[in-house]
Amino acid sequence: MPRHPNLWNPMNDLSAAPTSLKANILRHLAYTLGKDAEHASTYDWRMALSFAIRDQIVEPWFASTRKTWATGHKRVYYLSMEFLIGRILEDATVNLGLRDQAEEAMASFGQDFRAIIEDEPDAALGNGGLGRLAACFMESMATLGCPAYGYGIRYEHGLFRQRFEGGRQVEAPEDWLKQDHPWEFTRPEAAYVIPFKGHMEQQAGREVWVPSETVVASAYDTPVVGWQGKWANTLRLWGALPTTMFDLDRFNRGDYAAAAEPEALARTLSRVLYPDDTTYQGKELRLKQEFFLTSAALQDILRRFLASETDLRKLPDHVAIQMNDTHPAIAGPELIRLLVDEHGMPFDQALPVARACLGYTNHTLLPEALERWATFTFGNVLPRHMQIVEQIDHWHKTEHRGRPHYIGIVKHHEVRMGELAFIMAHKVNGVSALHSDLIKKNLFPELHALHPDRIVNQTNGVTPRRWLKMCNKPLSTLITDTIGAGWEADLDLLKGLEKPIKTKAFCKDFDAAKRVNKVELSNWLASHEGITVNPDALFDVQIKRIHEYKRQLLNILQTIGHWEAIKQNPNANWVPRVKIFGGKAAPGYAVAKEIIRLINDVAEVINNDPVSGDLLKVVYPANYNVSMAERLIPAADLSEQISTAGKEASGTGNMKFMINGAPTIGTLDGANVEILHEVGEENFFLFGMTTEQAMARRQDPEHARKAIEASQTLQDVLQMVAEGRFSPDQKDRYHDLVHRVWHHDYFLVASDFDAYDAAQVRVDSAYADRDNWVKMAALNTARSGFFSSDRTIRSYMKDVWNVSSAL
Ligand SMILES: *Cc1c(COP(=O)(O)O)cnc(C)c1O
Repeated sequence: MPRHPNLWNPMNDLSAAPTSLKANILRHLAYTLGKDAEHASTYDWRMALSFAIRDQIVEPWFASTRKTWATGHKRVYYLSMEFLIGRILEDATVNLGLRDQAEEAMASFGQDFRAIIEDEPDAALGNGGLGRLAACFMESMATLGCPAYGYGIRYEHGLFRQRFEGGRQVEAPEDWLKQDHPWEFTRPEAAYVIPFKGHMEQQAGREVWVPSETVVASAYDTPVVGWQGKWANTLRLWGALPTTMFDLDRFNRGDYAAAAEPEALARTLSRVLYPDDTTYQGKELRLKQEFFLTSAALQDILRRFLASETDLRKLPDHVAIQMNDTHPAIAGPELIRLLVDEHGMPFDQALPVARACLGYTNHTLLPEALERWATFTFGNVLPRHMQIVEQIDHWHKTEHRGRPHYIGIVKHHEVRMGELAFIMAHKVNGVSALHSDLIKKNLFPELHALHPDRIVNQTNGVTPRRWLKMCNKPLSTLITDTIGAGWEADLDLLKGLEKPIKTKAFCKDFDAAKRVNKVELSNWLASHEGITVNPDALFDVQIKRIHEYKRQLLNILQTIGHWEAIKQNPNANWVPRVKIFGGKAAPGYAVAKEIIRLINDVAEVINNDPVSGDLLKVVYPANYNVSMAERLIPAADLSEQISTAGKEASGTGNMKFMINGAPTIGTLDGANVEILHEVGEENFFLFGMTTEQAMARRQDPEHARKAIEASQTLQDVLQMVAEGRFSPDQKDRYHDLVHRVWHHDYFLVASDFDAYDAAQVRVDSAYADRDNWVKMAALNTARSGFFSSDRTIRSYMKDVWNVSSAL
């Protein structure tokens, strides 16, 4: 007997309703997967559903492309080394308005929709915020009908998988492509030769680059569909292939390994994503990856332009190229090279054409994150580009002769990619109001003086489709029931919640929605982490890359102090808390890894303490990624955004929490400033030094010692950590860490400790006043409209790209 009677004869279903989603799923199961429904696994069903959903995207995708060609509309090209996409299937069903239908279809086949959704690997082709921003932008550009291509690398291995062993981070390779990836289309016809190394030669009075290595960049296209399927753009990822597949001579001589060498070498280019977030290592392979992406993209862009136009001087009328950080900053010299060497344009004409096409987004003020290549490495890998960079430098110097503020691209035998990107872009943008100001004042003051109109601000945003509609069904249902549909594409409509928030009934519903999410998360933590938490406790969440400037250390030290206070007085009226951490450290970042271990060690002790019991739990699920963010954020009561002021460029995690109704405890840093402005002081737990105060504080070499000596709590906490209370098997494990807080503490953990601790006390008393807390949480949602990436993209379209919607 068949397990599912309705599958008795799937082929009948097909002929009966050829257009229905169900029929299409069954058709793919049979003809694409070659599986009988009888024997289909979760994987088979997921693939069949994915293909059936993908079919629905193809039509709008073709239509969008056709319309762009027909109207000669300007296109945006978003160049990024990272796209932190996450899972695609559910997002696609939501944007196509097919989620309920898909769920019902799977149920009719006896399949659990959630299990199907969670079977999909999380596409982690990025490290954190920068890559996730690129993914949100792709979705918003599709929603707004902005004709666009995303260009990136199809890494075989995305960001490593994290697990904990004895509290320590252990990295394992990630292999999202082990299974077939149903969302992409292979485009072997879109392939370009990418040259490297070699030397320059004089030929007929011209400099000619004779490369000694080449690889082929081959395209893989993933359609990105916008809200309600009105428009779809392409994410084009490049895979590296050898120019010559195989050395047959060597093979015939019996040298089998060597015969396959060219292939192996080429493929390393798109093999792995560098796992460094906010630092760079100056590795030759990374430079090659950056050039590989950029050259392939630019060759593709010129080919597309020349398919309908002839005059390359008109390129800026048709093409806007955005550089996501300096990683693709070689685009300036490479576009000039293609225009000059391949298309015969004079350098003096090529430079302004290139600049009019290019925009540069700066993502960080941390000096260690600004890419600089030794001229030796740069000139070795890209000899022609070394010449062009020097030409650009000379041209810029000449253009501003006599001006006092000149600053060079090549300095101290290094090519400085920030300066190169700045000089070669017609617009340079920061990612929050504060950050854009600091770019002007601290990062590029000389270049800003020369080009006072070039730096503009584009505060980041996140897509409300994924980060509210999709990940928080209880809340988005309540919102639609209250203010109607439409907010998904016009997030400012959430303002309409302000009035209902004044009513008891709405607040009760809002609270109930949050509680559903908290119960769900509690169940997941129980099954996944083996820990029981009380869903009525305050869920306090800090999830992001582990970095000293983000100050997870501040959080865990305060947690220890709080625990100690509970133990001193266990019968006081404590608000129960669950401290939730999530995040990966770069594999080579020893200090960050030590912080991870400390958090896990502290969790082990606190979670097993019968005195604090349910009043305090610390959980740190391993392998934070987009899917985990989607699970944690809707269940959060409190958003931890506690970076040292002046160090977080924007943050986007902070926006996701706000949209999902979690008030922030945070510093005046990045987009926190704008969140505070939107939501109002009374709905935000502000603490800590400002950027100016932090800079002044560092001038005092004794700042850390003084702060510690002034705080009894911090002294006690550091003492406990130093003497091994959380590492009984190795008492001196955290000696170095505590020593660094006392004597270095560049990120001012000690100096902000008391202010943070006091803010946490304010959180507790606010949470105890339930009605007011729920109101505060709901107002965070109601006032979050500004943080939609639709707003950000509209602003780029107007201020940077000069492109209109094609809808
Ligand atoms: C949003 C997001 C980030 C960025 O978080 P910040 O708190 O802004 O650093 C990083 N990783 C993932 C998986 C995200 O979804």
